[in-house]
Amino acid sequence: PADAVPQAPEDPLFGLSRAYKADTSPDKVDLGIGAYRDDNAKPWVLPVVKKADEILRNDPEANHEYLPIAGLQAFTSRAAELLLGKSAPAIAEKRTVSVQSISGTGAVHLGALFLAKFYKGSRTVYLSNPTWANHHQIFSNVGLPIATYPYFSKETRGLDVDGLKATLEKADEGSIIVLHACAHNPTGVDPTPEQWREIASVMKAKKHFPFFDTAYQGFASGDLDRDAGAIRHFAEEGFELVIAQSFAKNFGLYGQRAGCFHYVAPSGAGAAEGANIATRVSSQLSILQRSEISNPPIYGARIASIVLNDDALFAEWQENLRTMSGRIIDMRKKLRAKLEELQTPGGWNHITDQIGMFSFTGLSEPQVLKLRTDYHIYMTKNGRISMAGLNSRNVEYVAAAFDKVVRE
Ligand code: PMP
Repeated sequence: PADAVPQAPEDPLFGLSRAYKADTSPDKVDLGIGAYRDDNAKPWVLPVVKKADEILRNDPEANHEYLPIAGLQAFTSRAAELLLGKSAPAIAEKRTVSVQSISGTGAVHLGALFLAKFYKGSRTVYLSNPTWANHHQIFSNVGLPIATYPYFSKETRGLDVDGLKATLEKADEGSIIVLHACAHNPTGVDPTPEQWREIASVMKAKKHFPFFDTAYQGFASGDLDRDAGAIRHFAEEGFELVIAQSFAKNFGLYGQRAGCFHYVAPSGAGAAEGANIATRVSSQLSILQRSEISNPPIYGARIASIVLNDDALFAEWQENLRTMSGRIIDMRKKLRAKLEELQTPGGWNHITDQIGMFSFTGLSEPQVLKLRTDYHIYMTKNGRISMAGLNSRNVEYVAAAFDKVVRE
């Protein structure tokens, strides 16, 4: 009966965005948004996406037919190369399966569903503490048990690598470990390449199953290969693994829902058996996909595919990525410099040490609320700010407001 349906709380991020929109102050600053903004606080259509759009619109062959169940192959195969590298053994040996998804969220869901169906037993899913809040909902919705591993150190505002490794060592063998490939959301803290190697070696010893979530490749450092470093290391180590890949941020295709889910069979099974496993996995993913969405959306995949399959456009995309990541890195430097100039109590090096769209400022919940009511600056209660909300006109205002609430 309908009265068995209780009212659910509003999604905190969307609630924040609603409060920001309702604020009439000319000084208001939105540091909650999870989308890139240019220096005029406006959404940015990547110039290379405009070009691809033009090509698509002038293509007399283009139509609105269904894609195959697994999506646009010209897109998904390039997407796998982007993650694993063009000459990856897993691709050459046909140990990979790539299925187009409803952006990153849909890829995480498809992966969760697949694991819930075929990797059940006592497997627990370990999420970083904290993580993108949706991870908790997506994995629990498919009935997988959830635990967390330590990630962020409040003291150093960096990675709690010892706590992380200790928890992975204690976890039951074969646990599923969700890892942010780069630009960890919400903290902006990533393991160093050396720390990734240590994490991989603990996971190998415990036969854990890596579940990578990558939503910021190229957007984090401006270098697509560098931002795929962790995934490539695990793949080279021969792990059986899965990857949820979003093209929302790095193509600015948020609403088009372009993404992919990838499965990589273990290298240890031998090339022939690896390919057999991949064939079986592919057949099962098709069935899951068919019942969930039937076939994925076509438009964003075509745009991305045009860029990924053309050398000149690909080079231009890399330039666009450097524009976005460069502006964000510049804002990190400006915010830190201003706070240090004001001699705001506490260290601020974490602002430039952290990477990607988000930064964990270390501001407390009362400080966050004070920033909202007194200064019209909006961020999530955990003190996470989106760097994309800063620009050359508001960064000094924001630093001055941080300074005031920290001193109170
Ligand atoms: N994973 C993480 C860690 C994210 O930050 C995001 C975007 N906020 C996603 C997945 C998926 O986003 P989308 O579904 O828009 O691709």
